[in-house]
Amino acid sequence: MNKNFLENINKFQEKHFAGNKTEFERLVAEGQFPKTLFIGCSDSRVIPELLTSSKPGDLFVVRNIGNIVPTYETGLGYHGVTAAIEYAVEILNVKDIIICGHSHCGAIRALYEPPEKTTSNISNWLNLAKEAKKILPENEIVDEPTLRETEQKSVLIQMERLAKFPTVREKLDKQELRILGWHYFIETGKVKMYNQATNQFE
Ligand SMILES: [Zn+2]
Repeated sequence: MNKNFLENINKFQEKHFAGNKTEFERLVAEGQFPKTLFIGCSDSRVIPELLTSSKPGDLFVVRNIGNIVPTYETGLGYHGVTAAIEYAVEILNVKDIIICGHSHCGAIRALYEPPEKTTSNISNWLNLAKEAKKILPENEIVDEPTLRETEQKSVLIQMERLAKFPTVREKLDKQELRILGWHYFIETGKVKMYNQATNQFE
């Protein structure tokens, strides 16, 4: 990433915008009608549009540390992730919600090896994935296969939590909505998808 933001914006205008000007104008005139809500990790290596070959207007995106769905709460507070999910489901009427975990996720590793430097907000947020953590024998260091397994388990936990949102539950029952679990591998570019029939990511 070039630190010269102005130069990068110019590059975007020349390389991407100029050739697709009418498409961008159409998106403004017609508005956005994305059919998919993508919930992914904030990790800079996980780019939803890139890995799904999406164009502007295709994906409604929520990214946060660990691709987490918070517990449904209605109390006072600033529930940004919940609001975005409700907006996607109620207002945009998305048909699919993808929860996409990924390999080498720092949020999942932190469940086993809490970083020296953290904040109470970070630790509290990561608690929403801690059920995915495997109990290891004492003094055993977590290995890569266990991390991959935990990343997948966390996706399933987030899917379950999402299905408890009243607005989501209602549409699932009417079969107007699907929740999909994905596991993206940064090193191979492959995506494993959760198959409910086999209870595996394939
Ligand atoms: Zn991550």
